[in-house]
Amino acid sequence: MVKNIALLGSTGSIGIQTLEVIDGLGDGYKIVALAAGSNYKLLASQVKKYSPEIAALADESATNTFQEMIKGIPCHFEQGRSGQLLAACWPSAELVVLAQVGFSGFEPLLAALKSGKKVALANKESLVIGGEILQRSGLLDPDRILPIDSEHSAIKQSWTSRKPEEIARIYLTASGGPFYGMKSTDLHKVTPDDALKHPNWQMGPKITIDSATMMNKGLEVIEAKWLFNLDINQIKVVIHRQSIVHSMVEYIDGSILAQLGLPDMRAPIQFALTYPERKVSPVTAFSPYDTTLTFTEPDYVNFPCLNLAYRAANAGGTMPAVLNGANEVAVALFLAGKLAFTSIPDLIEKVMDLHDNIKEPVFSDVIEADCWARAKALDTGAMLRERKY
Ligand code: MG
Repeated sequence: MVKNIALLGSTGSIGIQTLEVIDGLGDGYKIVALAAGSNYKLLASQVKKYSPEIAALADESATNTFQEMIKGIPCHFEQGRSGQLLAACWPSAELVVLAQVGFSGFEPLLAALKSGKKVALANKESLVIGGEILQRSGLLDPDRILPIDSEHSAIKQSWTSRKPEEIARIYLTASGGPFYGMKSTDLHKVTPDDALKHPNWQMGPKITIDSATMMNKGLEVIEAKWLFNLDINQIKVVIHRQSIVHSMVEYIDGSILAQLGLPDMRAPIQFALTYPERKVSPVTAFSPYDTTLTFTEPDYVNFPCLNLAYRAANAGGTMPAVLNGANEVAVALFLAGKLAFTSIPDLIEKVMDLHDNIKEPVFSDVIEADCWARAKALDTGAMLRERKY
């Protein structure tokens, strides 16, 4: 039987690798919907190759050029935000791969879950911001959300128990990023180019900067809380420089189960696509011979973003949305050369300190908190800049 797939975020790093995995899997998988943000040229070539039933482009300014490029292809076209939502609940799709970056992924996630789809989720921000809302709505069904994030895929693969009380804690592994071992005095001087050189993983720019600040792991802690319905105190982070052990589950009898593999995003993508089955993959298997694996505690002092994420997770309500919104602005300012690397956590913390947290938020509350956090972060960023960071 053919598995019909809707892919949102098709022109980003995860989207491109998802198509590569689908190419490798062969006839059993069909792309029925493709959605992208602004890269209309790549989306057009993907539409020509995969002939989806619908193509959606969020950037409305490119609509005319894009439609001209796909002229003659029998494919429904929808622009703007409504196009993304339509692709997320496209009737013939049974699995929706959500691979957009940032908060824009939340509404499509909600739309896909509400319309009964299975979701392969690469967009962690939507769970960070909206996890509490999804849980209260009863939409966080672990059988329907398949994580593409490598750590969470590893937890899912190592989670053999059906009884939550058998789980003691989980360990999310972190490579430590390109600046592991550095102190804040040196971190102050690092450039976007330095930060974009991740030692192990090939990823998009936003997540690569988040890896360098450790905010990525912080967001993953919150993501794990919702995906696996854990208390925040049960989620630990461990630095593992080799990125071979992708995460671990510790059971109450002291046993730890882990998933190992070379760092290659195609592995968790394929696991999500073929779940519950496993199929042959182009990913090279890890060889355990002559290998040293190390595990150490994170440096919370020089990389304070991890603490900020724990603080937001403990506060709950709209605070995770504020953490995420302020972080997205801080990363953009850093990439534009307008903020020092060490000012990223300073900026986020200042915005969190100013926030009036709303408990048990509804959707409009998190939207407002997100907008508020972005505006406040831009103000605060300008202030930090005037002070020469
Ligand atoms: Mg990850």
